[in-house]
Amino acid sequence: MKEKIETFMAEVRARNTYEPEFIQAVQEVAETVIPFISSQEIYNGKNILLRMIEPERVITFRISWVDDHGEIHVNRGYRIQMNSAIGPYKGGLRFHPTVNLSILKFLAFEQVFKNSLTTLPMGGGKGGSDFDPKGKSDAEIMRFCHNFMAELYRHIGSNTDVPAGDIGVGSREIGFLFGMYRKIRNEFTGVLTGKGLSWGGSLIRPEATGYGIVYFAENMLTTKKDSIKGKIISISGSGNVAQYAAEKVIQLGGKVVTISDSSGYIYDENGIDLEKLKYVMHLKNVVRGRINEYVKKYPSATFFEGETPWNTPCDIALPCATQNELNGKDAKALIKNGCICISEGANMPSTPEAIAEFHKAKILFAPGKASNAGGVATSGLEMTQNSLRYNWTRKEVDQKLQQIMSSIHASCLEYGMDDTGYVDYVKGANIAGFVKVADAMLAQGVI
Ligand code: NDP
Repeated sequence: MKEKIETFMAEVRARNTYEPEFIQAVQEVAETVIPFISSQEIYNGKNILLRMIEPERVITFRISWVDDHGEIHVNRGYRIQMNSAIGPYKGGLRFHPTVNLSILKFLAFEQVFKNSLTTLPMGGGKGGSDFDPKGKSDAEIMRFCHNFMAELYRHIGSNTDVPAGDIGVGSREIGFLFGMYRKIRNEFTGVLTGKGLSWGGSLIRPEATGYGIVYFAENMLTTKKDSIKGKIISISGSGNVAQYAAEKVIQLGGKVVTISDSSGYIYDENGIDLEKLKYVMHLKNVVRGRINEYVKKYPSATFFEGETPWNTPCDIALPCATQNELNGKDAKALIKNGCICISEGANMPSTPEAIAEFHKAKILFAPGKASNAGGVATSGLEMTQNSLRYNWTRKEVDQKLQQIMSSIHASCLEYGMDDTGYVDYVKGANIAGFVKVADAMLAQGVI
């Protein structure tokens, strides 16, 4: 089996030489899915995984825009339309200077499995730009978003490809993007998710990814007859996912002691309560300041410049910032300090070495494609509401989100539990996500 996986990966590396993140994401899937394919007559010999790793379409384009001083800038835009076998392409847009083809292909590939796990009819895609929103005025953000959509509009549509937010793309950016789409196409349609409530958005969508990872953690802990209540939680990031993960943890009786941004992390031994979280939301969403300002407001907390929070003792870790933010050394520190559960909020935040440590220690570990699927699932619910031209209540959407997270958890148990009762959630999520897409591809023939 090792040889089979290595032969496959050699081809992946040869075809995608300069794409380390994409190769990393494929490797993780190959290690669990290839043995499964070999054991199933219907998938054997169909080159199904090779077909899945090749995007159906890759679009790149130029975005020229003018800053507030009249200077002209050029950025690169992308949309990766990875797989549409089970529904329109669906996945976020990321605006960050590190964005490149490798990162977006890894995200689009993960999205295919994640969307399949939600049980909703959504294919996988991802897009974005190397544009850096930090330090830009609202007017500059608006001009950039408008020019981005002035090209992207021709490749998307409510039945074709439905983008959403990701790092650097929140409700402000979705508003500007939607405005330009509506103007050019002269139609009001559910072409983007994460919209404002008064123009087609869904209740709970802003909260969904963060809430979802906590619901998933609660599902995992239940298998050990345990719960979030009374636990110490370490969170990284302080953006959309981190903020609402913190909110749900606090609501369920856990104590959040860390949050971070790309400049470092803060440790608050007394816990970040709802009032402090409100301050963080204002700081990050309105003032757009840096996380070290937290210690000026709450001097009992400490700021650790340039560090990640994984050396602090905690029961549960929720990495919610970015890919590869938690390495093997961090994983060892977490385990040594008593961590029993990791539920990933970001996409691929744990390196392969970190995942190996978690599995070796046999602690609960959920990969992002399972645990952070609540965001895209609620985007799927937003699409349904747009099609129905109807809005569900907050309670209705939250209940559906909880049901979806429980059903994803159940799928992971189905394919990931070994004879001893230990659940490999990576294996479970990869195989469960694979089956639905592979079956649809087989039914539709070689295209
Ligand atoms: P935001 O832009 O709202 O927040 C991102 C946070 O991560 C910020 O605190 C940011 O700090 C920090 N961060 C970004 N890059 C780095 C870095 N290189 N090193 C350290 N910290 C960094 O994004 P989201 O909260 O929406 O997304 C966070 C993660 O969750 C991403 O991996 C995303 O793909 C994933 N995700 C998001 C979903 C959603 O619904 N939004 C759905 C599923 C997954 P700073 O401000 O300093 O840059």
